[in-house]
Amino acid sequence: SRLKPDATTDMVCGYCSTGCSLRIHLKDGEAINLTPTTEYPVNLGMACPKGWEALSVLDADDRATTPLLRTATGDLAPVSWDRAMTTMRDRFQKIGREHGPESVAFLSTGQLVTEEMALLGALTKFGMGMVHGDGNTRQCMATAATAYKESFGFDAPPFTYQDFEESDVIFLVGSNLCVAHPIMWERVCRNPHAPAIIVVDPRRTETAMAATLHLPIKPKSDLSFFYALAHILVREGWIDREYIEESTDRYEEFAEFVHAYTPERAAEASGVPVETIEQVARTIHEGKRVSFWWTMGVNQNYEGTRIAQSLINLALMTGNLGRPGAGANSITGQCNAMGSRIFSNTTGLYAGRDFKNAEHRQEVAEVLDIPVESIPTVDSWPYHQIIEGIRTGAIKGLWVICTNTSHSWIHQEDARELLSKLDFLVVQDMYHTTETAQQADLVLPAAGWGEKEGTFINSERRFGVVKKVRRPPGEALPDFSIFRLVADYWDCGEMFQRWSSPEAAFGVMQDLSRGRPCDLTGMGDYASIDHAGGAQWPCVEPAAEVDQQRRLFEDGRFYHEDGRAKFIWEETRAMPEEPDKSYPYLLLTGRGAASQWHTQTRTGKSAVLRKLYPQSIYVEVHPDDARREGIQQHSQVSVASRRGKLTATAFLTPTVQPGQVFIPMHYEATNRLTLAHFDPYSHQPSYKDCAVKLEAL
Ligand code: SF4
Repeated sequence: SRLKPDATTDMVCGYCSTGCSLRIHLKDGEAINLTPTTEYPVNLGMACPKGWEALSVLDADDRATTPLLRTATGDLAPVSWDRAMTTMRDRFQKIGREHGPESVAFLSTGQLVTEEMALLGALTKFGMGMVHGDGNTRQCMATAATAYKESFGFDAPPFTYQDFEESDVIFLVGSNLCVAHPIMWERVCRNPHAPAIIVVDPRRTETAMAATLHLPIKPKSDLSFFYALAHILVREGWIDREYIEESTDRYEEFAEFVHAYTPERAAEASGVPVETIEQVARTIHEGKRVSFWWTMGVNQNYEGTRIAQSLINLALMTGNLGRPGAGANSITGQCNAMGSRIFSNTTGLYAGRDFKNAEHRQEVAEVLDIPVESIPTVDSWPYHQIIEGIRTGAIKGLWVICTNTSHSWIHQEDARELLSKLDFLVVQDMYHTTETAQQADLVLPAAGWGEKEGTFINSERRFGVVKKVRRPPGEALPDFSIFRLVADYWDCGEMFQRWSSPEAAFGVMQDLSRGRPCDLTGMGDYASIDHAGGAQWPCVEPAAEVDQQRRLFEDGRFYHEDGRAKFIWEETRAMPEEPDKSYPYLLLTGRGAASQWHTQTRTGKSAVLRKLYPQSIYVEVHPDDARREGIQQHSQVSVASRRGKLTATAFLTPTVQPGQVFIPMHYEATNRLTLAHFDPYSHQPSYKDCAVKLEAL
């Protein structure tokens, strides 16, 4: 029968950064079912609902199956690949001739396999002459990347998931791990040391409810709070003097700085009592293996880089780095955010290099055997500057790959309007129905996870392989093949001869990584990564011979020239849009359930996942606020900000604090409300704070 497989193969999941392995059941080479892989070191036989449903979303009716071109009457009509490629080339080249090649840009994603990101980065920048391209990882991990780079000298998450099971104190900051990374949460639950689990989050999330201590700090009081913890550690001498002297830089100035951040000041800012703050500092001091973990509550914050660094500072001053169960650990969002961070060739040159560094450009030119002059000498604009560039007229053509800007951008309405002003918009996606694809002049049908091969890099720096276990529908092609096709039509295919397949591109990436902190040269081919149970970077020796539960900085040496990690700090700043009389509530946004992913582009296609999650938009309101506003449980309510409004079903719950409301990000309307403001260092949008008003309908 159809349900009886004749073979199985393992591959990593294509949603979140946990990087679970799924065992695909095959019949005649085609996937018919899956179960979680039992012996993979990441998920140990577990998967969340998204993973279990990963195959079903490939069968959706709205898959893009042929290229679609906007006709004179405004419809999207099927065309051949030849017509699509010729049109894309002619339109982008015309824009380039009239406005310069840098007037065409691209927006990509942390969902592509690393080999596709790497090829896209080379094709656009070295072959097509683009300067500006960024990914949706800007909305996700840019802050962690910037924080690590400044503090450690390289974007290097130091941990392995084993640390969840080895800590005796686990700090989770701005992370609803239970829901956003459920398998990582399972790893916490397996910790045999009865750890103290301290959750710092304005909402009483599922994770907060399961914690030993929940600290519902006022939104955006993070910096004051963590500086006060540092203040107490300094005051009490609860620091690791030897570690500080051997491995860090600028501690004395930092200690001086936090002198002013008293527990009283933090209590005022955060709403957490002084005694609790003192107690938390004592818990850090008494812990033998203290780990600090953060995700979007920190990253999507206008002070995000400094907050991440305030956690790094706490780990550094207490010597909680490079040891089992310790670390200042950023949990990535998307399945390949880490790939984007080191191999996308967007705002940084390959393998953590710098476009502005002549030596770095030379190294890349030599590896790729291309003229060094073809490498831009400036960094790409980050996402919001590309959007801004459309407004100013600097960007006239845009290629959006596997992301849904018209839904997910922080100022959604503005993004939609600007995309409609472009001379030519190409959208490459699995589905022709995304909000962004609907605005396109040309849609390129892409294969999805399971229909192509390559690698993802998970949160703990582990490469895992994905495989082709289904045929893409119709004429859809793997993104890798589309990029090669574009190169041929652009007449720069010669330049990419070595990139003949994803696995060949993996070889190019290994060469690009040689001698860099993210050296992959020992990883071998896909089969050896599979054989080793995934492979963490760095990996210079053969993957199978290297311990695959490695953490960085065990020798106390960092990537800065002097080998030391830096303490970095800054005074706190006020929220740009505080609630006031007209807009009295603060809107928080975030993941709503383990069963949905981002803009629901894929997960919304699974009947099972849809059943697990309310399909119409809801807003969480505290019962006291509801009473004051005359809002009943499950009634319709208008939520408005200065930028837009929406109608949602009210869900009355004390898990939000009075004065705050919460709407999940998965709904199309959520980002009508949010305020476009950004961390100045990482340029990441601050999605989790804007003022709104409520009205019972
Ligand atoms: Fe694992 Fe994340 Fe996939 Fe769920 S979505 S199965 S947690 S990798």
